[in-house]
Amino acid sequence: MIVLWRTTTHCNYACGFCAYDRRLGGIRRSVPAEEAARFGTLLADWARQRGQTVLLSWLGGEPLSWRPIWDLSARLAQAGLAISATTNGSSLDRADVRAALIASFRELTVSIDGPPSVHDALRGREGAWARVRSGLHALAAERGAAPLRLRANIVLMRQTLPHFAALCRQLADWGVDEITFNQLGGRDRPAFFPAQRLLPADIADLAACLPGLKQDLKPRGVTLCGDALYVERLAASADNRALAVEDCGQGRPFLFIDEAGIAAPCSFSGAAYGIPIAGLRTVADVDGLAARFAAARTARRLATCDDCPSTQQFAKFAA
Ligand code: SF4
Repeated sequence: MIVLWRTTTHCNYACGFCAYDRRLGGIRRSVPAEEAARFGTLLADWARQRGQTVLLSWLGGEPLSWRPIWDLSARLAQAGLAISATTNGSSLDRADVRAALIASFRELTVSIDGPPSVHDALRGREGAWARVRSGLHALAAERGAAPLRLRANIVLMRQTLPHFAALCRQLADWGVDEITFNQLGGRDRPAFFPAQRLLPADIADLAACLPGLKQDLKPRGVTLCGDALYVERLAASADNRALAVEDCGQGRPFLFIDEAGIAAPCSFSGAAYGIPIAGLRTVADVDGLAARFAAARTARRLATCDDCPSTQQFAKFAA
């Protein structure tokens, strides 16, 4: 099971395409440490009793700024969970942060979108690109035999697509093991979207460059993820074509939890299918999630499922 947990909506960056841009108002929340520890321990119990692996991946906001992350990750890794996180990379210049990642994490995804001027402007922080570069370099050098997989994720939009292939090759020089990408979505910041969204011709360019780029990167030990099904998802979005998903597994093997402790099959369905984790106390409760999501969908199918935007449903991580 893969569990994505958005533990905080606080962030120190100002990305114009993100709902958690630090310049935006609204209430910011973080998951209480005790509740994260309780439910994380329940996931570890579930994994052990059911003979399954669980990858628990922290998201934000900026999850590395969520204070409980280090002690909790160490404890949960000890209990048998594989720990992961997606970060903007702003704290990777700190030796203590890198040491904690290497000690307890199995995977780290760092966001980077283009060359320095493009990345820094998009992220609203001068020097952001340089921090990602030096942080990845240092992690790759310092991890030794530790099983920490380094991944970079690139957000594709009009401004970043022309730099995609060059950035992938550069990331290979920095020591990443895997590269993923997603296209800019319009839900978080609708005003940013129209000028930057990918168009059908952009997807055609991307599809044409992917096979050769994958071949270039492979001998260098780098996997560029995203298969034909995934590119078809991107093409459909660029073309305003809906792609429905009838059965997304309903929470297994995939679970999303938000900062308010609502569990759902994905980040888009909490309001309709969500279940508070506060009520999940036993291994049997975790077993029962799939049936409860299915019942919620039968009672009220979400319109979003008729054009499912969840990248994991479309093999984003397929090699
Ligand atoms: S939006 Fe997609 S992943 Fe989410 S519940 Fe609907 S079909 Fe499943």
